[in-house]
Amino acid sequence: MLTNLFLYDILSLPAFTVAVLAMFAIVAFRYFLVAGFFYLYFYVWRRQDWLAYQVNAKAYQKGQFRQEVAWSLLTSFIFAVAGSGMVVLWQAGYTRIYASLSWNDLWYMPLSLAVAMLLHETYYYWLHRLMHHPRLYRYLHKVHHNSLVSSPWTSFSFHPSEAILEAIALPLIVCFLPMHYGMIVTHLTLMTLSSVINHLNIEIYPQGFKQHWFGRWWIGATHHALHHQEFRYNYGLYFTFWDKYMHTESPNYEKEK
Ligand SMILES: [Zn+2]
Ligand SMILES: [Zn+2]
Repeated sequence: MLTNLFLYDILSLPAFTVAVLAMFAIVAFRYFLVAGFFYLYFYVWRRQDWLAYQVNAKAYQKGQFRQEVAWSLLTSFIFAVAGSGMVVLWQAGYTRIYASLSWNDLWYMPLSLAVAMLLHETYYYWLHRLMHHPRLYRYLHKVHHNSLVSSPWTSFSFHPSEAILEAIALPLIVCFLPMHYGMIVTHLTLMTLSSVINHLNIEIYPQGFKQHWFGRWWIGATHHALHHQEFRYNYGLYFTFWDKYMHTESPNYEKEK
């Protein structure tokens, strides 16, 4: 099946359209699967058990979830176009994406994933700070911050212009960084998962995680809920190092449990 996928020539308009629609179905399905599961588990089934770990106790706005899902579907479509564009670049020989495995991949595949995440972090941190510039904020980033209290459905809730800027990160990275296509799928799945966890508004990592050697550098719901609450701190995506280094980490972060 995978061999057939590689033989699928995407370089014609009808084939590209089919690829976009197929990828849209996959990206949107993954969004509903992950966000839906976290919503049901933490907000419905086990609501009482997790109430104590809620970060921002304010109520959601009326119709918020519906709007977030609508923006997220538009984002999923843009991600599908970018993903198909990446396959076009791959087939035309412009990327460093590869498909065959060797023994070296045992160490190289995890390393490439870590490097891609660090590059993605750097791209996103500075893009995020730029999007908070008063002249750009309204056009790029306001939609995302309409969610004053974030929810799992906020994870893809972006204005299309912001979604495009986010969607080009990985295609750009793979033009320079050799990555097995499996690691790209892993990266995108991790991105979806961490975005849902960070917007959950319920801290699911154990108490004391922030003091742990890994937890110090890893973003969770508390970190990002403070970004939605305070606007001017906590710009990071996966990791805290840029916020720490640039002194943009919220002073309230340490105080939260
Ligand atoms: Zn922001
Ligand atoms: Zn957010």
